Amino acid sequence: AGGAGGAAKGQRVLIIGATGFIGQFIAEASLSGGRPTYLLVRSGSSNAKTIKSLQDKGAMIVYGGMKDQESMEKILKENEIDVVISAVGGATILDQLTLVRAMKTVGTIKRFLPSEFGHDVDRADPVEPGLTMYNEKRRVRRLVEESGIPYTYICCNSIASWPYYDNTHPSEVHPPLDQFKIYGDGTVKAYFVAGSDIGKFTIKSIDDIRTLNKQVHFRPPCNYLNINELASLWEKKIGRILPRVTVTEDDLLAAAAENIIPQSIVASFTHDIFIRGCQVNFSIEGPDEVEVCELYPDESFKTVDDCFEDYVAKIDDKSIGVTANGIAAQNHVVEALPITAMCA
Ligand code: NDP
Repeated sequence: AGGAGGAAKGQRVLIIGATGFIGQFIAEASLSGGRPTYLLVRSGSSNAKTIKSLQDKGAMIVYGGMKDQESMEKILKENEIDVVISAVGGATILDQLTLVRAMKTVGTIKRFLPSEFGHDVDRADPVEPGLTMYNEKRRVRRLVEESGIPYTYICCNSIASWPYYDNTHPSEVHPPLDQFKIYGDGTVKAYFVAGSDIGKFTIKSIDDIRTLNKQVHFRPPCNYLNINELASLWEKKIGRILPRVTVTEDDLLAAAAENIIPQSIVASFTHDIFIRGCQVNFSIEGPDEVEVCELYPDESFKTVDDCFEDYVAKIDDKSIGVTANGIAAQNHVVEALPITAMCA
């Protein structure tokens, strides 16, 4: 299985948004697979450290912005780019329309992966303001399809982490140490995928004929969990039981209705995932959709258990509440780290 021939390894990949949350995982995976990897970097990008680290691993930096069609055409041609992967954030989804026009004019792009990396936006129907973001992603899809550019849509579901409803990059924040907020009755399941696996399987898909013009869904059975199970898993890691409070459907809808961007977008997705079950209420059987475990049955996924282990390793024992003799202390409250940008 795989469908990715050795010759395809030489395909030149341009990643847009590699300094971002999801883009970094994709850039890492592309580089570790030894692919010629170009990163489009805006001159004003504040993330010099990430750029330098990716450069040290072999990435080639191309300066430019995706909204400038002429310059994008030049970049694509001069660097003989075969595959373009966009992982731009929620605020700049529509900037991709110009990029699509540039790719159409150049006419040599073998695969385009627009910034998706969440749910199937044609199928899911979140409340506002999440819906507006999906409408933008839908617009990009339609233009790609009309333009005849070969594409793959990555529907990787949730990043493996505690799914805080009020922030945007949950995997940068460890699971709670004071109390769990449980959505509804906590029994609606979802799929949680480690960032490194989002990168790994995205890169595997780019030259696989079976993913050509398809949506690729990520449904690792090992990471099919509800929020009650997620809470129990974390409790085992930190060696103590935390109080659970319920966040009701109405609470989530109210947080979405506040229309504070981006937090309210995250609230609307949280509602769609953990109340409505948008990740699990359909089967993957359409002619244009494939599931990643079926495509690559020999590949393993990092488990949520392992991801939680990583969080434990990063938190000092005092915050976790483990005392010198290994007995867990109670009632430590740790502030969530501030986060920026957009989810699913
Ligand atoms: P971020 O906001 O973290 O990063 C955005 C990146 O895009 C940055 O590197 C930024 O560069 C770059 N960028 C933005 N506009 C332009 C432009 N015009 N030209 C060139 N580069 C540009 O994005 P996220 O990682 O949060 O989001 C990426 C995708 O992943 C989105 O579709 C989002 O919905 C999805 N997502 C899914 C999650 C999940 O759990 N499944 C979680 C989070 C996101 P600069 O450094 O210059 O700012």
